[in-house]
Amino acid sequence: MAYKVTLIPGDGIGPEVISAAVDVIEATGVHINWERVEAGGQAMEKEGTPLPAYVIESIRKNKIALKGPLTTPIGYGFRSLNVALRKEFDLFANIRPVRSFDGVESLHKDVDLIIVRENTEDLYIGQERMIDDNRAESIKVITKGASERICKYAFYLAENLNRKKVTLVHKANILKLTDGLFLETGRKVAKDHPHIEFEEVIVDAMSMKLVQNPQDYQVIVAPNLYGDILSDLAAGLVGGLGLAPSANIGEDIAIFEPVHGSALDIANMNMANPISAILSGAMMLKHMGRLKEAGMIEDAIEDVLKDKESRTRDLGGILGTREFTEKIIEKIYSYKQVEGDGYAKEI
Ligand code: ATP
Repeated sequence: MAYKVTLIPGDGIGPEVISAAVDVIEATGVHINWERVEAGGQAMEKEGTPLPAYVIESIRKNKIALKGPLTTPIGYGFRSLNVALRKEFDLFANIRPVRSFDGVESLHKDVDLIIVRENTEDLYIGQERMIDDNRAESIKVITKGASERICKYAFYLAENLNRKKVTLVHKANILKLTDGLFLETGRKVAKDHPHIEFEEVIVDAMSMKLVQNPQDYQVIVAPNLYGDILSDLAAGLVGGLGLAPSANIGEDIAIFEPVHGSALDIANMNMANPISAILSGAMMLKHMGRLKEAGMIEDAIEDVLKDKESRTRDLGGILGTREFTEKIIEKIYSYKQVEGDGYAKEI
């Protein structure tokens, strides 16, 4: 079966890391028809807009996109292109898997959790004002609909990825109405999934527990602000943002992208670490139901990183983006040779 996916290489190191992700995905044997479109600085130069209509049309038609980091031209009218895309497609869930790799220096080992962050409301609706010279206020909005949607998605992910527990994060002891509604809604959704353990943790306690025992968590679902903070905190436990993939998910559209920015300082120098983009590609494969191939990619990264020499410079190695990508591809081919079509490592 051939899939059609919108490919947005993006700016800075984007084209290098996204092309690495494409090559690795091809190596797994999943056939994808990539519809390549330009957005960000590249599009601004050629089309006079960082987000041409054909980019939006392509994503709407294909429903899945793999994208690199975009630089948002200043003063163009977009606060951020990522926010513009999120709004255009109502991408209500931000998904950030966080896992440790044996070879990479990190505070914790054996971490493998997924943070599911509500992406449309909470304090991020931008309703702030100065009441007078000395007082400012910001409005926090939590709705039952958005809470239900995100909690259902967290359980859906847990079920599809064989996770046994969902942890809901809140501060309902203080924010009784807003976080209270989020918690109440989460409890109701949990009742429909009795085979998955449901746990509620207050956000301050969660921060401590995550730092101490991140291995205890599998899927964490949180309102926008706590999800934002905990995502970076968790990434810090396993070696930083450089390795982190992400997805923004809507009802029928999903955009996968590395967490890092365009890193213009190392663009076109064959120095960028492509892991974040490659893992975003693996997330995309999981979303398409190609769990076996996604597992191959994750295993290949894990295996290649075990050798200190086989890393990019940011991880203390000597390899360039291309050479590292070749190693991952070779590793995938070696799995396929050994196991034929029966590759079935635990994922
Ligand atoms: P933007 O302005 O688009 O957010 P940025 O350049 O600030 O992008 P960050 O992702 O915040 O990008 O990266 C900060 C620095 O970390 C970069 O300048 C670069 O040196 C390094 N860096 C980021 N991503 C990578 C990567 N994939 N591989 C190697 N180094 C990276």
